[in-house]
Amino acid sequence: MVGVLALQGDYEAHARALRSAGAEVKEVRTAPELETVVALVIPGGESTTMLNLLHRERLVEPLKRFSTVRPIFGTCAGAILLASDVTNPVQECLGVVDIGVERNAYGRQLDSRVVRLDAGELGEVEAVFIRAPIIRRTGEGVKVIANYNGDPVLVEQGMHMVATFHPELSMGTRVHGRFLEKVKG
Ligand code: GLN
Repeated sequence: MVGVLALQGDYEAHARALRSAGAEVKEVRTAPELETVVALVIPGGESTTMLNLLHRERLVEPLKRFSTVRPIFGTCAGAILLASDVTNPVQECLGVVDIGVERNAYGRQLDSRVVRLDAGELGEVEAVFIRAPIIRRTGEGVKVIANYNGDPVLVEQGMHMVATFHPELSMGTRVHGRFLEKVKG
């Protein structure tokens, strides 16, 4: 059973994408629910709002503990939450993946776009960017799977995955499939 953090954002689209990729899915809103899943997706949305809701639900510490034993996949706002440092503006984050991200980094003119990316072993994937962050720094243990405009947009660190785009809004299931491979170990 794979969990999707369902406090805010486009968690329903992730649940659909995970099901298409062959997973059983459960929405997670509380610490006891988190304990019932073997992996977690943190969706896109608004990272400040999601962070406030995580505090309200007392999920910050449980999530950090979960990340030491179970895979997490963060997309867009989820990527911002998983990072180790966040700028524009500086914001608290969980420090699960050793990356530094800048929020809303493509600016107003290029708020949103759809592009095709060469994702190496995953082949070509469609990437939908919506007020996306840019990964400005990757630590030593971080593997870059795909770049866009010279910046990493899909990375992995150990069992965890981060995308600055929205794979749940595209038809293909390769990116979610990759995460499910990690879940199986
Ligand atoms: N701009 C949002 C933030 O900074 C993220 C956007 C998204 O998840 N599509 O939290």
